Amino acid sequence: MKVFKFGGASVKDANGVKNIVTVLNEVGYQDLLIVVSAMGKMTNAFEKIADAYFLKKDELPVFIKEVRDYHYSIVNELFENKEHKVFSEIEYLFIGLTGFMIQNKATDYNFVYDQIVSIAELISTKIVSCYLNDSAIENTWIDVRECIKTNSNYRDAKVDWKLTEKSIVTKINPRILYITQGFIASNESGNTTTLGREGSDYSAGIFAYCLNADSLTIWKDVEGVLNADPRYFQETQLLEQISYTEAIELAFYGASVIHPKTLQPLQNKGIPLLVKSFLNPKKKGTHVSDGKKLVPETPCFIVKKNQLFLSISALDFSFVVEHNISEIFNLFHQYKMKVNLIQNSAISFSICLEDNFNLIKNLLAELSNKYKVVCFEKVSLFTVRHFQNKNIEELEKNNKVLLKQFTQETVQIVVQ
Ligand code: ASP
Ligand code: MG
Repeated sequence: MKVFKFGGASVKDANGVKNIVTVLNEVGYQDLLIVVSAMGKMTNAFEKIADAYFLKKDELPVFIKEVRDYHYSIVNELFENKEHKVFSEIEYLFIGLTGFMIQNKATDYNFVYDQIVSIAELISTKIVSCYLNDSAIENTWIDVRECIKTNSNYRDAKVDWKLTEKSIVTKINPRILYITQGFIASNESGNTTTLGREGSDYSAGIFAYCLNADSLTIWKDVEGVLNADPRYFQETQLLEQISYTEAIELAFYGASVIHPKTLQPLQNKGIPLLVKSFLNPKKKGTHVSDGKKLVPETPCFIVKKNQLFLSISALDFSFVVEHNISEIFNLFHQYKMKVNLIQNSAISFSICLEDNFNLIKNLLAELSNKYKVVCFEKVSLFTVRHFQNKNIEELEKNNKVLLKQFTQETVQIVVQ
């Protein structure tokens, strides 16, 4: 079997959905399972609904209208017959959303977020599934929440591999073409959970693993994995071959083309990952597998924006040693900070952090009871793998450097 994943950019409008038909007709769709994520930027739009539900209830209708209009404009373009069942299927999902918002008593933001945001993936897959069926690509829509099982850590749920493998093997008939959702899953009580933003690559990786797939193909609006993000760098190069380990390193440092968790299940079973362009399906794209580390051998640039840079020292200028460091790390864990870089000297400890849950104020309040803390906001973290000195000079020329750290193959620079 094979697994394909189409991301938000591939289904951002009616033409995108039509293009999936073109891709499938061009490359074939035998023995295939397809994961499709929410359309365009719809996950962000549903996040706004979740926020408004808690903070500004009066703005809810505006945000709901925004997602309704977006999806209905796509289905209206795709389906001429207004009696088509796709319309009632989508309406049913919107009724479910409203019903949930009226009935829900839970105050846990993360729980509510998952119940709301997941609707975007359900709608998107309904549309794609119906459209493919109408285009003679016979398929079955399946609710991924029956397949991928997780714990109850809403918004960042951990996969229960045993249960998941069992469900997938029982539910999936290899001879049927399935369309299913990425990013969402369910816990023991059947509540919806999510695997973390951009998690649908990971979902596809989970299916590939459990089905012992021959390969996983992620269809993108770029040619494959590039050595730098074209949004921030002018000259980019296509990476033709990357080893799993190198891809894991790149993803770890923040290369956004591959979700970091996706690679591990694939590597465990030696399942190749192909990253290809949905605009040029016949082009080779990038091949991630065992074997050559990086072809061509070229520096790879990764930038993480919107980072926090903290410099922490003891109030009495004593040394920052093991017990302080463990205390500081416990606080990072408690406030769900993602640590991207650390460096310590005798009296200070510097960290580059990501505050995905908006908890920096609480963290700083607690840290400053014991430490002197200097915090720089909105800094950027540049990582260059396989760097050449000229790459570093270039970065230093244009930015104010707060920290620079070298390891054999990698340089990381925090700039303001
Ligand atoms: N739709 C989800 C998101 O935008 C998952 C994904 O696209 O991978 O985060
Ligand atoms: Mg997406």
